[in-house]
Amino acid sequence: MQNVISFLDSNKERYLNELTEFLSIPSVSSQSNHNGDTRKCAQWVADQMRTIGMQNVQIFETPGHPIVCSEWMGAPGKPTILFYGHYDVQPVDPLNLWTSPPFQATIRGDNLYARGSADDKGQVFIHFKAIEAYMKNEGKLPVNIKMIIEGEEEVGSANLENFVKEHKQLLKSDLVLISDSSMFKKGVPSVCYGLRGLAYMEVEVTGPNSDLHSGTFGGSVHNPIQALSELIASLHDKNGKVTIKGFYNDVRALSKKERAAYKKLPWSDKEYSKNLGVKQLYGEKGYSSLERVWARPTLECNGIWGGYTGEGAKTVLPSKAFAKISMRLVPNQKSDKIAQLFEKHLKRIAPKTIDLKVKALHGGEAAITPIDSPGVKAAVAALEKGFGKKPLYQREGGSIPIVVQFKEILGLDTVLLGFGLPDENAHAPDEHINLDNFFGGMRTSAHFYNELTNYWGNGKK
Ligand SMILES: [Zn+2]
Repeated sequence: MQNVISFLDSNKERYLNELTEFLSIPSVSSQSNHNGDTRKCAQWVADQMRTIGMQNVQIFETPGHPIVCSEWMGAPGKPTILFYGHYDVQPVDPLNLWTSPPFQATIRGDNLYARGSADDKGQVFIHFKAIEAYMKNEGKLPVNIKMIIEGEEEVGSANLENFVKEHKQLLKSDLVLISDSSMFKKGVPSVCYGLRGLAYMEVEVTGPNSDLHSGTFGGSVHNPIQALSELIASLHDKNGKVTIKGFYNDVRALSKKERAAYKKLPWSDKEYSKNLGVKQLYGEKGYSSLERVWARPTLECNGIWGGYTGEGAKTVLPSKAFAKISMRLVPNQKSDKIAQLFEKHLKRIAPKTIDLKVKALHGGEAAITPIDSPGVKAAVAALEKGFGKKPLYQREGGSIPIVVQFKEILGLDTVLLGFGLPDENAHAPDEHINLDNFFGGMRTSAHFYNELTNYWGNGKK
């Protein structure tokens, strides 16, 4: 192990040169004029995998951009990690806001700037080098590793789900490892173990069969905008709880351990509200703001429209009003069931004065990897060794659909070992990765493979 770490520490110059080459390929997946570059990048990934000692390297064609897979299965009896990442990047516009050219990696201060440096080439590269360090020094890895690196993450991973379904055997492993997220903040390593799900709804309220003159008809007809507003307002009670019957039934409660861990986070509500420009925070009573964002389900009205919204005055009593409403979900809520509860609830409370239509637009499940699972324990131990600091536990309020797909199709939990920082401009001009995190990430990855063998035994698969 010591050999591996010293090797990582003494090859930094070379790593930066190789990463610069990886980052110089403009693999912008959303722009077809870059299709050649995206393909070239898949080839670069495959060549790199061969160079570091991965075997069975294959480039799979898809209806979109290729998927690159490889494996090293030389540790019988040891767990198998499925490492997922992506080699495609976001467009670079607006180009004039970049301080240095986006595909020419440039170091300024403690950061390396380039498109893809944090999201996700830099983080994928961290693992390439951790693997290489083992191969060069020990001739083997402490665990088995499979890699799946796709080229369509930034455009919604349209072909990934089918690929995973069609290659279950190829991808068969014990847990998924993803490095495509951020640490809690600079100098504060963290392991992310939970993501929220989503149920997205559209509501249409119809009153009279056409728009009416508000002078002639106002006072005799229930205005659909008013009726819709009343419905939406009633979806939260005075304690900020969602009033939909059964909404909280399947919610997995926060454990004492989690709540204690969140309390220890270096977090200030005051600073948070100041940054957001709000006078006061709002949310479900009885929970801290981090708990509400990470581990409690919520309901938001995303848009509401109807009637006249143009310049000046028009005295109309509209025929229709609409709203888009989303619900962020937590384990063990199911998006289909929540969508049904939502519709049932609205239909039950809707006044007789209007007609109501509810449509479910889109849904996805929440994901959680228990913090006492071997994968998370190994991540915590590895982060502590890699960064010399005890890491914190965190969740994310958003969703990563691929995590749910790996769970549903392959039955695998995911460990999210992110080495980015929340302010590294992923998707924006001047994207960068902090070099301390980059090299600390390599040490952490190397330790993770090793630590996993320690925690995996104990019959705790
Ligand atoms: Zn990414």
